[in-house]
Amino acid sequence: MPDISLPCRIIALIQERNRLFACSPGDLEAMIRGYGFRCTRCGRCCTRRINDHIFLLDRDVAVAREIDPQALEPAPGPEFCDPAGMLYVSGYAVRMKDDPAGSCWFLDGTRCRIYEQRFSVCRIYPYMHRPVHGAAGEVRWQQFARRGEHGEYDRGIPESEVQTLARGILEYEHAFLTQQIAFLETLHEYFSVEGLRHDREMYARQSRRYRRGEPVDIMVWCAGELEKHRITIPEKSMAAVWQCTGSS
Ligand code: SF4
Repeated sequence: MPDISLPCRIIALIQERNRLFACSPGDLEAMIRGYGFRCTRCGRCCTRRINDHIFLLDRDVAVAREIDPQALEPAPGPEFCDPAGMLYVSGYAVRMKDDPAGSCWFLDGTRCRIYEQRFSVCRIYPYMHRPVHGAAGEVRWQQFARRGEHGEYDRGIPESEVQTLARGILEYEHAFLTQQIAFLETLHEYFSVEGLRHDREMYARQSRRYRRGEPVDIMVWCAGELEKHRITIPEKSMAAVWQCTGSS
């Protein structure tokens, strides 16, 4: 992880969010038509085989807590670690089951048990609209879709669906960046008040402890607060992911 100060990271994210306003919904709609993606309800994108994790916005966390609080776990890949070994991450993810595919907590066979209430990212998947930095330093926007791994492509998409998706993608990216900015602002204030800093060596040590199956403590940002959890790697985990086993 590069040593970039928290204020610089906050400014970079604010600039990224500002650039979203310059995006043309018409261009985005053209790309959606070009992909022509159709969900075939195979359920594959709802597993760790296809997606490492399903990140939740604050509003999704509130929904998940109402349906089943056990469905939450700290998002994998904590961003920071203080000198005492406390890890920090910008939000929650949906818990993945300990089955061979690593299925989403809400996946039943190939069907989503909460389809009508499914989370923000599930509604726009497999699209996202993130900037890619070119060799000349220019910023281009790129959509994302895992062509060939699930669903069908090159299908005709109803125009109303295209427009709804384009609006949803831009709205999701704005909410995602806003959450990341708020996390960094909270952390900057918390570190300043507590006299803490990010400690790269301790981060690596905690990562090794976690991979050995030892518990580590983590603060998860949610709705302006840092919530403390103790996590251990699940016995049958397919990868070294960060999973929550309870809060303290
Ligand atoms: S909440 Fe539903 S749609 Fe979203 S990943 Fe889980 S099973 Fe899939």
